[in-house]
Amino acid sequence: MKAPLSPERFESQAAEALNDTQLQDALQKATGLFAEKRGAAVDACEEWDSLREHARLIKEHTLLHLDEYLENFAAQAEASGVQVHWARDGEEACRVIEDIARNANATRLVKSKSMTTEEIHLNKALQVAEIDPVETDLGEWIIQLAGETPSHIIAPAIHKSKEQIADLFVEKLAIEPTTEVEELAATARKSLRRHFAEADLGVSGVNFAVAETGSILILENEGNARMTTTLPKIHIALMGVEKVIPRFADLAVFLRLLPRSGTGQKITTYQSILTGNPRPSDEEGPNQIHVVILDNGRTGMLAKAVTRQALNCIRCGACLNVCPVYQQVGGHAYGSVYPGPIGAVITPQLTGIEKTSRLPFASSLCGACRDACPVGIDIPELLLHLRAEIISRQSRLSARIAFRMWAWAMVKPWRYSLSTNLARAFPFLLPVGRWKVNRSFPGLAPNSFRKWWKDSS
Ligand code: SF4
Repeated sequence: MKAPLSPERFESQAAEALNDTQLQDALQKATGLFAEKRGAAVDACEEWDSLREHARLIKEHTLLHLDEYLENFAAQAEASGVQVHWARDGEEACRVIEDIARNANATRLVKSKSMTTEEIHLNKALQVAEIDPVETDLGEWIIQLAGETPSHIIAPAIHKSKEQIADLFVEKLAIEPTTEVEELAATARKSLRRHFAEADLGVSGVNFAVAETGSILILENEGNARMTTTLPKIHIALMGVEKVIPRFADLAVFLRLLPRSGTGQKITTYQSILTGNPRPSDEEGPNQIHVVILDNGRTGMLAKAVTRQALNCIRCGACLNVCPVYQQVGGHAYGSVYPGPIGAVITPQLTGIEKTSRLPFASSLCGACRDACPVGIDIPELLLHLRAEIISRQSRLSARIAFRMWAWAMVKPWRYSLSTNLARAFPFLLPVGRWKVNRSFPGLAPNSFRKWWKDSS
């Protein structure tokens, strides 16, 4: 059985990806196309640089006053009938969502695309609670059918070819073999419509949350998020704390940056702005809306300016498409929910550096990610910061071990003599590790001073 993906095994997973010719082909085509479309969209936007700077300033300002803006958002949302929940971590967020479902006797749930729900492993938690989640974004649905995880922030099935998807549909949905994209899409639509019609509950992510009005904004191209948020009687939106922006007018900046950066579109096809529960005069829409605000390690990134900037991310995926490492190894090699350059900087900060220490080294530091980022995140600077932290932790540990050994040897002459004899016989035991990588380490003299003294007296 194949071992589960893990950030600790980046190198071996990357080597496997490099030997997968189908994956290489799919990655080259898709990332090339995304990058080309983004380039054309950016070139056609005269005020691109000022929009980027404007977005960066809005994000920086918001993060410096995050508590205030979150409280404002929550107050406005509650005033319009939304139930707001706060979750310290993924476990708490899953529990909140399970409780809402349980209280409503809801067992059938549809989901629109949300990396935050991937981050907290919501589907797994729901299945344990005997709630059946169905992904409705086409890419996410394909991944769910295949029992895999997304490999790109905005294109979860980017690693799959049309032929592989066709085979999957034949196997799982018992359709007649076809590689016609229209027929495959029609199959997906038919199957998903039934799930929308039967769902008790809809779960979505949030692209932006407006503090001024308590509104949430969800962007998508397929219409599935709109159905997820309007057909079931309960809608739950999960958002990271960093999704809040101060004013409604700020959306005008981000709505121009995000689609151009992500897919090269001037505008996303569906932009759903949801402000509170439907009015009594509205015939459609859910009768309960919940927003779950998730921390899950984000506030730990606020303390330093260098780490704080990662919270500017609007999850457009542009840095993945231009990254020479991602272009070659794809998303699964990173073994984490968030792949690519932004994944290499946020995963260690969200989940701890211990088990993710390979990720900040998965970069050539070429700077293409920084140039592509619509909110001006200096990803190479962050990667270097994390690398320095990892090396300093590792050096601290090896220095502690070396000094313990030194202290043990120095208190008794026989111990000292034993240690030097051992080091002479087995030089590879010397705890100098990586210190030797760029330095020459002189070998020990063939005989000890003691022996020389004894022999010559
Ligand atoms: S780091 Fe920048 S380029 Fe990468 S996903 Fe986030 S906003 Fe987009």
